[in-house]
Amino acid sequence: MAGHGTGDLNLVGLSKSFAEFTAVHPMDLTIPQGSFFALLGPSGCGKTTTLRMVAGLEQPTSGQILIGDTDITNTRPHQRNVNTVFQSYALFPHMSVEDNVQFGLRRRGDKDAKRKAQEALELVELGHAGKKRPNQLSGGMQQRVALARALVNRPDVLLLDEPLGALDLKLRRQMQIELKRIQQEVGLTFIHVTHDQEEAMTMADSIAVMNAGRMEQLGDPATLYEHPASTFVANFLGQSNLLTARITGSAGDGLMTADVHGHDVLVQADKVPDGLVDVWLGVRPEKLALGPGSGRNQLRGTVTDASFTGVATQYLVRMPWGMDVMVVQQNDGSARARLGEDVTLAWDPGHEFVLDSAQAEDAGVERVVV
Ligand code: ATP
Repeated sequence: MAGHGTGDLNLVGLSKSFAEFTAVHPMDLTIPQGSFFALLGPSGCGKTTTLRMVAGLEQPTSGQILIGDTDITNTRPHQRNVNTVFQSYALFPHMSVEDNVQFGLRRRGDKDAKRKAQEALELVELGHAGKKRPNQLSGGMQQRVALARALVNRPDVLLLDEPLGALDLKLRRQMQIELKRIQQEVGLTFIHVTHDQEEAMTMADSIAVMNAGRMEQLGDPATLYEHPASTFVANFLGQSNLLTARITGSAGDGLMTADVHGHDVLVQADKVPDGLVDVWLGVRPEKLALGPGSGRNQLRGTVTDASFTGVATQYLVRMPWGMDVMVVQQNDGSARARLGEDVTLAWDPGHEFVLDSAQAEDAGVERVVV
């Protein structure tokens, strides 16, 4: 096959413009062979355009796409060993499930088409459903058939474009776990496009967060969550409290002091980029404890909202300078704070992340910082 090659997928200076509008700015990215990779970002950030360039459905404006050493930039979609699963299953309604799955193999004259189709159906746990028609299956099962069809010829890269978008939440969660199991079983490179941060974090080994046509940060889920490189990433992946702060000096023991609206707090020194003074001090809601004695850093505020969410309660605590800080506490049987109660917010140095406050302020920051 002309576009066949195994190895890492490399995007080199890859960009796409539509007339005057740049949907994807030149991007360099290596996706290791056999990894589960997510392209994550809000609507319109360029993730589908990136995926479509890899699939060969969109001609790049600049740059190259390589699988291993093979340059596939100018090969036609069907010549690339790259398959795509879309949100719409695009199954042939008049064909049985089995025929849908083996359709491509048959066309290529593969004598093992039937056996391979059955194996692919077993992989997605539909080994018993081969004789059925797509419309006899639920949405989730149809999506599995589409997956079996895309996997049956063992592509080098499988592209998943919001494949779970049409499923209800419970089924979606089940399919996330299923997809991860299938990827681990087949060991192929999966690239999953989604705007759902929880979905990306649940499934992917690595995530590229995209914003306005650029890759904002690349990393494994825990790194992106614990060490977001920008306010955009901090707000897009989970909830963040971003406190305006000023680094005031060294406190020894690998710590620095910071001033938060007239209150001294300690910050881990290696989290403060060299020379930065005016910063956003980010603390995730679940890193904050209500009550003194639960952390070396302490601020006082008043509970303005308490929402019971089952395993946890989510509080909003109004700071004296007007900002609402979000706190999430596990419901472990201990007493819950009441509306209007004055409380202490506590956390330990090291549980923060520090960002340059001079960076572009996106809407998310304005929402949480008063
Ligand atoms: P979504 O999740 O909504 O699909 P996305 O992150 O996948 O968003 P893209 O579909 O890649 O975003 O689109 C990125 C930008 O490029 C959008 O502003 C979109 O309007 C624009 N765009 C995409 N395709 C075309 C096209 N064929 N012609 C002109 N503009 C386009």
